[in-house]
Amino acid sequence: MVAVRPRDRRRTDIPENSDSTLPQGVASVLAVLPSSAVVLDRDDRVLRASSAARAFGLVKGDHLMAAELLALARQVRRDGEIRESEFEVAGHKFGMEATTFAVRVAPLGSHGQVLVLAEDQTERRRVEAVRRDFVANVSHELKTPVGALSLLAETIQDAAEDPVAVTRFAGRMQHEAARLTYLVQDLITLSRIQGGEPIPTPGCVPVDEVVHEAIDRCNTKAAAKEIVLVAGGTEGLRVWGDDELLVTALRNLIDNAVAYSPESTRVVVSARPAGEVVEVSVSDQGIGIPESSLERIFERFFRVDAARSRATGGTGLGLAIVKHVAVAHGGEVAVWSKEGSGSTFTLRLPAFGGTAIAVPSTTSIPLEAAK
Ligand code: ADP
Repeated sequence: MVAVRPRDRRRTDIPENSDSTLPQGVASVLAVLPSSAVVLDRDDRVLRASSAARAFGLVKGDHLMAAELLALARQVRRDGEIRESEFEVAGHKFGMEATTFAVRVAPLGSHGQVLVLAEDQTERRRVEAVRRDFVANVSHELKTPVGALSLLAETIQDAAEDPVAVTRFAGRMQHEAARLTYLVQDLITLSRIQGGEPIPTPGCVPVDEVVHEAIDRCNTKAAAKEIVLVAGGTEGLRVWGDDELLVTALRNLIDNAVAYSPESTRVVVSARPAGEVVEVSVSDQGIGIPESSLERIFERFFRVDAARSRATGGTGLGLAIVKHVAVAHGGEVAVWSKEGSGSTFTLRLPAFGGTAIAVPSTTSIPLEAAK
């Protein structure tokens, strides 16, 4: 049996404009608001609550669950002043995180009703925290080469009479300046693509040309370690996107394959059709990535071995750029790796025209083993 208490009276029993009905039009306004909305009557009972307010656990039955919010509503009812505040509600279900709300509480009508609007701030807080972390990381990354440059400049000044030392330190200055340039370039690329802006010049991109161009740009570094870059797979495939961004992403993958592989190994870049997508993979015979780090390698500035990354001129942003380029194209990037054996990174990109088919092209550049 269900006990019916007086407060459970159906709203239709209540005369218009009494303290238990909403002022005219309020219900329709509340229905279109994106925030969690709650209307309390003069006895603090919930007259109306949006489904979001119930889902977040702010309201149960006809009770407002947050004591802090209830106190605020009472203050507003007493003096009629609109109040704003921020507060946190513990996850009301197991495993659920706490939710931070920005609330605005205002008097409603002349019957002691109070309107509570609560905006979920969790995502905004998370984004702010990520941004703060990012700025701290960038400052730290910039400080190292800038500090080194300043020290080297001092050393050169002191060694002005020693041309051999001056030449040596000037070379190191060039090296640090190059590091700074790479970092700034990567930061610019990253900020351009992760802003969620549309791809600059989308169109039909021949995969063979992207592969050829990316290999071309990595050849010098590969040759210095006697690493052979090999292009293979299906020729004539086309994807939808921006050629320059795709070359940047693929070049980053090949750069890493070279940087994290021992001398005299092979790096294979291969394309293949896979239904609606084209898969472009870069496989190396390098040091591999520990399983525990696999989930984090696409994070900005995450490195398995910071010293090794810096020694190879890495900025810690390469894979974050790859991930964002893939996402901006409606694609994704996956990784397989085994420590001591090697790694394979696979870009999956939407095929031009919706289906991946090889189109023989007279203008396509022949793929060949590059040294
Ligand atoms: P970095 O500039 O440090 O190379 P990335 O974002 O490109 O930054 O890569 C992040 C980290 O992932 C690297 O520091 C390295 O530890 C690891 N990593 C990336 N690619 C490879 C690879 N092919 N083989 C082994 N480790 C890799």
